[in-house]
Amino acid sequence: MLEESHHYFGRAADVLGLSEKVREILISPKRVVKVELVIEGDDGALQHFIGFRAQHNTARGPYKGGLRYHPSMDEDHAMALANLMTWKTAVVDVPFGGAKGGIDCDPSRLSRAELDRVTRAFVAQTKEVIGPTVDIPAPDVNTNADVMAWIMDEYSKYFGFSPGVVTGKPVDLFGSEGREEATGRGVMYALEEALRDRGRALSDVSVALQGFGNVGSHAARLIAERGGRVVAVADHAGGVARKDGLDVPALVDWTREHRTVAGYPDADTFDGPDIIGWEADVLIPAALEDAITKENAADVRAQVVVEAANGPTTPEAAEILHQRDVTVVPDILANAGGVTVSYFEWAQNIQQFRWDRDRVTDELEKRMRAAYGAVREVARQKQLDLRTAAFVLAIQRVGRAALSRQSVREEIDFG
Ligand code: NAD
Repeated sequence: MLEESHHYFGRAADVLGLSEKVREILISPKRVVKVELVIEGDDGALQHFIGFRAQHNTARGPYKGGLRYHPSMDEDHAMALANLMTWKTAVVDVPFGGAKGGIDCDPSRLSRAELDRVTRAFVAQTKEVIGPTVDIPAPDVNTNADVMAWIMDEYSKYFGFSPGVVTGKPVDLFGSEGREEATGRGVMYALEEALRDRGRALSDVSVALQGFGNVGSHAARLIAERGGRVVAVADHAGGVARKDGLDVPALVDWTREHRTVAGYPDADTFDGPDIIGWEADVLIPAALEDAITKENAADVRAQVVVEAANGPTTPEAAEILHQRDVTVVPDILANAGGVTVSYFEWAQNIQQFRWDRDRVTDELEKRMRAAYGAVREVARQKQLDLRTAAFVLAIQRVGRAALSRQSVREEIDFG
């Protein structure tokens, strides 16, 4: 996965004509921490887990990025996703760098008390390298507001009251209104912009989604509220479809109770992986990496793909989609709504001030549309696809900051 994000970086660096030296400065991670977590399970036996925190770049502000609890979490994943965060925070112009981390575990096999203990063990082992002005974690796959609350609580035991150490906290515990739905909401704005470029609107498109967790379910709900027809949804356990549109609120209720869309009664069923080639105008991968590969990219029937997940399209697949004139809104733009509202939450925490939901939503919409507009403009001026344009914009912003903070002097035209 790291290779993939380096591939996209390299292409944008070529457009900007960056020297090897500057590429190395911008791409090298600053620190990767690997920790062993040992907790007592509910049955009294010891359980061992490995946790990671990769910190990529702080040129524009403290490290920022999610924590993922998943068996696929390893050093390579953490570094690749940290890298993406650096470019993502720059694309939406929030004052953070990039980080990512998590724990190699399967949370469905842990009780709530075990999850709490493993989370606190992670904080105890990483507390010197995180903090409100150092590195601010947030939710990602299989982590949520509860996990963030435990992190805040544990960190505060060592360093005193510190709500700004994590974002995505419960609203009752210094979280922000609108954070939980923020990534999905941002996906919806990104989709509206992409459709506008193709002369279409949400109210006349059908949408297929892979992943119905935090990001996918909120995106689906908001798209349906604006008249979009959500015709198919798949997750780790299967898929459900309805040609005239699924009842998204009912599907959300079902999923909350059953932890999967599979088995939802009011729909046809299909094998989850078939979602990629679904007959729909829009495809939103909102699950894990490498959903669209060179093997299935030719099956994609959508005109617009919005990357709600991080890294859902491999470079070979991206090339195939480009040649087929499919608009791909890249992850570092499409799913940046979450980190944007995380920034609002952090700002509220350090100012000890609260914004109401309308203010959060208005500011998020402004930032997402401005970021999309800036990427579109670079794409137009330099004749690039949206992903390369987003990387160019991000590298320009990070590059200017990074070089002005150190004595390295190069004649670089960052545009
Ligand atoms: P989540 O844990 O809430 O949901 C994950 C969803 O993916 C679930 O519906 C799960 O069933 C599905 N899934 C897992 N494995 C699958 C598979 N093999 N096939 C099909 N579906 C599968 O996670 P989330 O927070 O919604 O994150 C989803 C993606 O969005 C991740 O790539 C994450 O990095 C990215 N993201 C999340 C946020 C955020 O704010 N939560 C922000 C930016 C990006």
